[in-house]
Parts: sequence; C-alpha cells; structure tokens
Amino acid sequence: MADPEESTAIKVMCRFRPLNRSEQARGDKYIPRFSGEDCVQIAGKPYYFDGVFQSNTTQEQFYNAAAQKIVRDVLEGYNGTIFAYGQTSSGKTHTMEGKLHDPDMMGITPRIVQDIFNHIFSMDENLEFHIKVSYFEIYLDKIRDLLDGIPEEVLDAIDEGKNNRIVAVTNMNEHSSRSHSIFLINIKQENAQTEQKLTGKLYLVDLAGSEKVGKTGAEGTVLDEAKMINKSLSSLGNVISALAEGTAYVPYRDSKMTRILQDSLGGNCRTTMVICCSPSEFNEAETRSTLLFGQRAK
Ligand code: ADP
Ligand code: MG
Repeated sequence: MADPEESTAIKVMCRFRPLNRSEQARGDKYIPRFSGEDCVQIAGKPYYFDGVFQSNTTQEQFYNAAAQKIVRDVLEGYNGTIFAYGQTSSGKTHTMEGKLHDPDMMGITPRIVQDIFNHIFSMDENLEFHIKVSYFEIYLDKIRDLLDGIPEEVLDAIDEGKNNRIVAVTNMNEHSSRSHSIFLINIKQENAQTEQKLTGKLYLVDLAGSEKVGKTGAEGTVLDEAKMINKSLSSLGNVISALAEGTAYVPYRDSKMTRILQDSLGGNCRTTMVICCSPSEFNEAETRSTLLFGQRAK
C-alpha cells in the first residue's frame, strides 16, 4: 500500500555540477559546502532538501537515489512528474537526458525508459501493455509537438524529437534555454484474465533557464521570451508552494505548463523537483535563487 505521507510530499533533489573548464581557467571559487546528505551551505547559510548531490555524483548514482522509484509507482497506476529547474548551463539537460546511447552518461529519461521495459518483461504474462510517448516543447507559451506519429523505439523517439528541435532553430543551446521540453510516457495495462485496467503517466520536464534577463538591452523577441519564461516558472513555483502548503486553491490555470501538468502534480501524484546548481562564485546569486525556489516546495 502507498504511504499516505509520501503520496502528497513533493521531493526536492539538489544537484551541483562540477566547475567547468572556463570557470577553472578563470580561477573561480567553488562555493558550496556540503554537510550530510541533505544540506548544502552557501556562505554559511544552510539549505535543506530531500537529497543533496555533490559535483562528483555519477548519472547512475543520481538516478538510483532520485528517480528510480517513480518507475514502480507509475507501473502501479500513479501519475508523476520529474522536472529540472536551474539557470542555463547548471546541468538540467545533463540530468534529464545526458548522453542518450552511452550507458554511463545516460540521464534520467533514457534510464526510466529502460527500466520500464525491464519491469514489463519480468511481470505477469497475462498483462498487456500499451506504451505511448510524446515529446513536445513549450515556447512563448505555445506547444510544439516534436514527434510525428508513434515511433517504434523510444530512444529513437527522443533523438528524432531533438533533431526536430534543432532543424527549426539556428542555435540549439540558446533555443533550449528559452523553451521547456516535455517528454511524456503513458502506460496502459490490461489483465487479459481479469480485464482489470491500470493507467499511469509520467512527465519528464527540462525547464527553460531560470536566470534573470538583464534589465537593459532586452527587447523584441528576447524580451517576450524572458517575460514568458518568468511567468511560466513563477506560476510553476506558485503551484508547487500551494501544493506544499495544502491550500484549497491551486493556481494550475495560470500558465500553459501548469495546465498540462495539472493531473500529474501534487495530490496523489509522485512529484520530484531536481534543482540544478552551478558551484561557481560567479553564479552565486542565481544559485541562491534556485535553492530558494527548491525550498518553496517544502
Ligand atoms: P542546462 O541544460 O542546465 O543548460 P547542461 O546540462 O547542458 O545545462 O550542462 C552544461 C554543461 O555542463 C554540459 O556540457 C554538461 O555536460 C556539463 N555538466 C552538467 N552537469 C554535469 C555534471 N553533473 N557532471 C559533469 N558535467 C556536467
Ligand atoms: Mg539544457
């Protein structure tokens, strides 16, 4: 039986990437101080989460600690969401996607896909499974589907969706920092003998970069993008904190993303927020703002 305590709680996992080459070359100071497995301090101020992961955490270690359990929940008929929040270049795509066909460097999404198939093959042979994946992005509050039809191989679907993103824009990294990408796995099971049915779905979300856009200089599309990202991330924050506080009214309808995720966030769903942080002193202000966003879920 599901633990009722656990079902409503939103889990927050905090992951720090290592200093990158240019930060090292510049001699940036490495600012986080870790204490125990659930606390990180920035300039002496402690922040607590369900899990805090240091820069040397491998993809496998992070997956096992932060995401693996949700696979079983979804196969038991729960809905769930895992999303990655953080400034551009903090490790969101590394964490959610990683290198798709590299067993060591794969991120959460390909590992979940593998795990789902492993579970299915080891389950009751009377169970019939229907799995559907969708991959889309939200850009300027509009949804764009990245897949045509239903591909045969799930990992190929991720590749295909990525290519569809890339051909549509000149600079993939810039574009991905301003759009939310959402990978959805729908699982239906039916028992051939009992005709019992069970459905679960899981959203895997790589959010747009959370950094503040400079007040000067931004105009036209860049300003529209910045306003829209700001609005959608703050509405996600409002939904998360309403769920955490248990208020009666949860403002799901304030943005496209929270409307989409509505039936997979909070309540009886499994929700995990991964907050991704840079360890460089250069990004201290953004890192603090990311840590505060994570604390709103608690
Ligand atoms: P984001 O999606 O948040 O913009 P990325 O995931 O693209 O950031 O990460 C930026 C760079 O840092 C990439 O080259 C990525 O491979 C590297 N990186 C991010 N997180 C880690 C990590 N935990 N360990 C090693 N390299 C990382
Ligand atoms: Mg990214």
